[in-house]
Amino acid sequence: MEGIPKLQVNSVNIKLLEKVELGERYKVNISYEGYILGNTDGIGAAYRERIEEPFTILRYETFAYPHPGPPTLENLFSVMFFSYDYNVKVTVPKHLVVANGGELLKTTHMDGQVSYKYRNIKPAWRMDFAIASYEILEEDGFKIFYFPEIEEGADRVMGLVKKTMELYYQWFGPLKDFISFSIIQIPEGYGAQTDVTSVLQSGEVFTSDDYNVQIYHELSHLWHPMETEPFPPCRWNEGLATFLQNLVAEKLDNKPGFLNRMSNYMKQKFVSQCKNRPDCMETPLIDYGQTLMFDFSYNKGMILFHVLYELIGHDAFMNLIGSYYNKYYQTGGSTHELTAMIKELPYEGLSRFVDEWFYGVESNEYLFQGMSVEEIVAIYKR
Ligand SMILES: [Zn+2]
Repeated sequence: MEGIPKLQVNSVNIKLLEKVELGERYKVNISYEGYILGNTDGIGAAYRERIEEPFTILRYETFAYPHPGPPTLENLFSVMFFSYDYNVKVTVPKHLVVANGGELLKTTHMDGQVSYKYRNIKPAWRMDFAIASYEILEEDGFKIFYFPEIEEGADRVMGLVKKTMELYYQWFGPLKDFISFSIIQIPEGYGAQTDVTSVLQSGEVFTSDDYNVQIYHELSHLWHPMETEPFPPCRWNEGLATFLQNLVAEKLDNKPGFLNRMSNYMKQKFVSQCKNRPDCMETPLIDYGQTLMFDFSYNKGMILFHVLYELIGHDAFMNLIGSYYNKYYQTGGSTHELTAMIKELPYEGLSRFVDEWFYGVESNEYLFQGMSVEEIVAIYKR
């Protein structure tokens, strides 16, 4: 893999017999088989894969199935912004259950085996299949695949999901295109991941309140339209999800002052990470995609949305995020479209705020000076 020398894949060049115009379709059948070594090093080491009882997982990060495009780091990132449909049949011994975030079309039993047919619900950029002796808890379109020993934990998570969704409905309005959402338990150390209609979560979330924020974070992503800007985009939506996870924790878990503490923590994280990147101070948030500075979208992005929240107040903030979703959930939206909506709001200082936090680097200075969210807000209210 160009750009990640330790990651090895097989690449196959397919020469088409006919020229294909943009927007036309051409069908290629690929038959393949083989063994999985799994990631042991490099960029994918956090994402493990295995085919073995009691737990099997096949996932995007480990190249268990063919990916379109050249074997380069750039393509690896950009593939997140492609979309395709899948229709998959997985056959396993009958005591096992196949978990996937798509819609289960049917199961067929034969000769001690069972086949699961799944298809994607929303345009997909990945397919994950986790296989184990899962139990399933299903309510209102939410599906939890869990290991039998943590039944209580699954009940708790379902309660949490419902409470969180109720809060987000109040804040942003209803989801337009909701069919179902799955939470799939994986053993610790396999690498949690979010897809458009599912999350892979390790056991901590089921057993400890300390991990509630992960659920708050992932569910908030349901209200994020696809990004339409050139990839890789700067991913401010991770900053927003991180801000929301902490706001919800402050409200639902009764943690007064939690949001301010987290913003302080993120500020310190930004400063210490920034010191390790010479170009950090000169890089605005809008360029975090191109420069592969995705971590900064979480920490600085969170503070950005916290500042905005304090500047315009709770109701206007939720209204903004809900309106952006309503306007762009079908077409996808861009950073520019979000910032245009922010600037239209009838509050002072928003043009300067947008310039300094999305497109400029003054915000980096504020964080390096150790300013609190309150002090930063005061700049725009002067
Ligand atoms: Zn996220």
